[in-house]
Parts: sequence; structure tokens; C-alpha cells
Amino acid sequence: MKCLKCHVALKLTQGELTLSRKHLGSISIANGAWYECPKCGDKSYPDTTATAIDQAFHDKLTSLVLSRPFTELIEEKEVAEILGVSVQAVNKNRAIRGGLIWKAERNKKTWYLQKSVELFKKTRDGRFSLVRRCSRRLALPHPHKLKIINGPHVPADDGVIAREG
Ligand SMILES: [Zn+2]
Repeated sequence: MKCLKCHVALKLTQGELTLSRKHLGSISIANGAWYECPKCGDKSYPDTTATAIDQAFHDKLTSLVLSRPFTELIEEKEVAEILGVSVQAVNKNRAIRGGLIWKAERNKKTWYLQKSVELFKKTRDGRFSLVRRCSRRLALPHPHKLKIINGPHVPADDGVIAREG
């Protein structure tokens, strides 16, 4: 296999592979294998590595979505209401199936991020960054364990406090 740009043979490389994707941040695979161009550094992934990468990002998305406050997560029928379509239409929608609305499965049930559904309704792309730079998640009690009090709307990222310096 040769690099399409440099026309030199790609070198099989093994080790820890770290990749990042827009909105999701980075993942790493401990025992990755890939082909790398010795000249430009372009990487090409064998099927097994490509599958592991997809799985790692899928798992990361799941944990990022499910770590949001429970009040931000909605069920399919609420998604249908917001979009003004039937539940079946939500299920069959190729854009939604393809990941344009942030969602995750827990106990065989799919949970959707409400903010993502609303964004999708407006722009047809409900993806937004689920990670923040220069911020640190503090060890606060899990939102499910907090009492919900009627009051002013709590911002989506409550609990994430940016630190200076
Ligand atoms: Zn190259």
C-alpha cells in the first residue's frame, strides 16, 4: 500500500492510537495497528482498527450523553412531539439514525438530548460540542440524586466550572 500523495510505501505501525473528533473530544486505543506514511504522516486504518475507532467514539458519545443531567434527556415520543412527526418517522429518519441528533442507549432504551433535538429542528443538524476545553468537571453528586426544585431554568452546563490559568 502506498501513500496517495507521496507515492511511498506505508509503514505498518503499532501502539497506542489517539484520535479526536469534533464535538466528542479524543479517544485512545491501547493496541492499535495502522499504516503510516513515513513522509507526510498520513494514517490509513485496517478494518479491525477502523471498527475499534468507531466503537470507541460510539462509547464516548454514550457516556457523554448519559452524563448530562437527566432532565436534559427525552424519550422518542417527546422527540416526535418536538419535531411534529410520528414516532415511526423518528425511528426511520436517516439523518437521526445517522447521528445528527445526540442520543444514547441505556437498558435498551434510547435517550435523546433535548437541546440536540431542538437544534436539529432548526438547522437539520443537532450536533454540538459535548466537551469543553479548559474546564474541569467537578465531583458533584450525580444529577439523578439531586432533588429537582421548581425555579429558574438551570443552564445546560451547570456543574462545569471553568478554571482560570
Ligand atoms: Zn504521504
